[in-house]
Amino acid sequence: MPLIQVALATPLRRLFDYWPVAGEPLPAIGVRVKVPFGNRQMLGLVVGQVETTDLPANRIKAALAYLDTNPLFTQQHLVFLRWVASYYHQPLGEVLQMALPALLRQGQALHPPLEPRWQLTELGKQTTAASLQRAPRQAALLKLLQSTSQPKTQKNLQAEGYSLAMLQGLQGKNLIEVQKLANKKQGIGLPHLPPDEHLPKSVLAEVPLKLTEEQQQVVQLLINKTNNFSPALLQGVTGSGKTEVYLQLIQQLLEAGKQVLVLIPEIGLTPQTLLRFEQRFNRRVVALHSAMTDKERLDAWRSAMQGRAAVVLGTRSAIFTPLPRLGLIIVDEEHDASFKQQDSVRYQARDLAVMRAKQEKIPVLLGSATPSLETLAKAKSGAYLWLHLHQRPGVGVLVPEPKLLDIRNRKLIGGFSEPLFLAMDKHLKAGNQVLVLLNRRGFAPVLMCISCGWIAGCLHCDARMTWHREPPKLHCHHCDQQQPLPLTCPQCVEGELKPLGAGTERAEETLVERYPDIPVIRLDRDSVRNRNDLASKLEQIAIQRPAILLGTQMLAKGHHFPDVTLATLLNADHGLYSSDPRAMERTAQLIIQVAGRAGRAEKPGEVIIQTHHSDDPRLEKLCVEGYEALALDLLEERQQINWPPYAHLAILRAEAPKTEQVEALMRLLAVQANLINQEAVTLLGPVPAPMERRQGRYHMQLLLHSKQRAPLHRLIAQLLSWLETSPEARRVRWSLDIDPDDLF
Ligand code: ADP
Ligand code: ZN
Ligand code: ZN
Repeated sequence: MPLIQVALATPLRRLFDYWPVAGEPLPAIGVRVKVPFGNRQMLGLVVGQVETTDLPANRIKAALAYLDTNPLFTQQHLVFLRWVASYYHQPLGEVLQMALPALLRQGQALHPPLEPRWQLTELGKQTTAASLQRAPRQAALLKLLQSTSQPKTQKNLQAEGYSLAMLQGLQGKNLIEVQKLANKKQGIGLPHLPPDEHLPKSVLAEVPLKLTEEQQQVVQLLINKTNNFSPALLQGVTGSGKTEVYLQLIQQLLEAGKQVLVLIPEIGLTPQTLLRFEQRFNRRVVALHSAMTDKERLDAWRSAMQGRAAVVLGTRSAIFTPLPRLGLIIVDEEHDASFKQQDSVRYQARDLAVMRAKQEKIPVLLGSATPSLETLAKAKSGAYLWLHLHQRPGVGVLVPEPKLLDIRNRKLIGGFSEPLFLAMDKHLKAGNQVLVLLNRRGFAPVLMCISCGWIAGCLHCDARMTWHREPPKLHCHHCDQQQPLPLTCPQCVEGELKPLGAGTERAEETLVERYPDIPVIRLDRDSVRNRNDLASKLEQIAIQRPAILLGTQMLAKGHHFPDVTLATLLNADHGLYSSDPRAMERTAQLIIQVAGRAGRAEKPGEVIIQTHHSDDPRLEKLCVEGYEALALDLLEERQQINWPPYAHLAILRAEAPKTEQVEALMRLLAVQANLINQEAVTLLGPVPAPMERRQGRYHMQLLLHSKQRAPLHRLIAQLLSWLETSPEARRVRWSLDIDPDDLF
């Protein structure tokens, strides 16, 4: 008898062999199975069958139950998920768990349990209602069921006034029963369904916009490539009509009966985006994102895997959705940092989109106004088709050129300089909206005593605590530690405590003081906690003018604000002289995103960037020649210093409550690495992490760098095997980050 191979979500990077469930047919690959594991039970996925195992016969246990009759993943999709596990060096079980909606992970049936239906028994058919005269309601119920040949759902019967007690009364007399279903396991998988046959013939629910010549060319080029793996970069400023291109391309695929997956950044998935897709097509469009309930997610996932949903619009984890007729993947705002998962399996959804498209031999379209250097390098080398949209359709307004406003030696009030205020006055007086972007929450990033220099720091991290006004507290944004505001300086007792720098709360206070009659609408994580908050803020923005829109990144993405004529970034300097090689790329993307918010409609716009370094040649280049010119320079720099995308990186991180524990392990790890390494990989470290103490634990890291991917991955595989068996590693939490986004 063959054994079944089960993938379980354990830290062990291997599969587990079990006897099949006794008395049941062998399970299909891709069904969930319950198995004994140690002294508990676990849910896993059947991923194969084997004839032999290394385990001694008396140690092999039998699987307990299958949870599905049909596979949740096709073979093709499993190939993809196996690739993910091997590329990121993660246990297959962990990857499969991640690919399942939470409710399926917890063992719930794929289909919701059916509503019980009641029908007559043989006895019930022959009994006259009159014989139940002592129970008139039961008699009426019996009569009702006798008047129809169809069983009735319990819900309907209850709605008609028959209680469960009455139903059970008749059941007790053997007159009625709950209908038994042919499928003995209620609510277990259906076969993959063909596309709905009852759908309206036309894919379109509205007349699409007439494409501009530029858009038309792009769509035409892409349509000719729909039968093959063909990656493309669509580069175009905000408002250049990329989404319209997506929609018209999707239309073609839906007409061919295909499904389309659209990945968008976390905060880009607004109700308006979803609506725009839903309004266009007579086909089912489903969303998949973290703000949905588990039940909503399961419903959307199921309709995708059964082929009922034609378009799936989701954030990064939607890349794992099974789609039996997938014909195209689109990644919008492909440069966005939210496509990188920063814990457990640290995957990059944009990279996975390209790999999945390659495996499925379908096109993948990456769209952005500010493409990542990785994607740009591929476009430049010709590996990706490189498409541009230069104009904004209709109005012909281009993105305004950002102007640098030097704030060296200028007095700042709550982060604003006087010339900036004057520019704002002008736009507000004209009845327009002004957008102010500041990437810092809270009132002030630093609270300091002006007589002794004491600074409020976090007890658990090498970090300062942010001062929040509402509610008043000190908050560490790294470990979430919160504490009340000190009334006096804890160090010298008499000194005055003052805020340094400005966050959104302080900027808001400053604006309200200066513009008492103008609404200030603030959007950040503290003022927008859920979808309702967001909807109400967007509603205010839609009706108030003049108005000031103030916020973090949240404000720079995805939304259309047609009446914003001045967009400003309060401080461009955070990323300019950072040790993170990606910082300049990020800053440039942010500036262009901000610029894209101004002058979208008929009104010409203005963009002002406050900085202490207005003579920085990179900033100048960005403003005068644009993002692409700067990005190509940055790419050249990267090539010179042998850095991604011209080399490959991985980071092994380790943390423990005591420095010695981390150090001991990392020293051994480096020794191992040097033993195995054939010089193709450079080891940088181990060194303390940039923030060494975080959440009360010590962090160290070892950076691995290589020109080629293969030797790097070989070394990692060997290091992980060593880590998994090393006694030193037991007291230390470690993790691996392949293609890291940041170096800490
Ligand atoms: P992006 O996704 O690049 O930000 P959108 O597709 O959202 O751009 O287009 C920006 C605005 O221009 C939208 O209001 C859209 O309806 C409009 N638009 C796009 N394409 C056309 C077109 N061909 N003709 C007229 N208006 C268009
Ligand atoms: Zn003091
Ligand atoms: Zn902290």
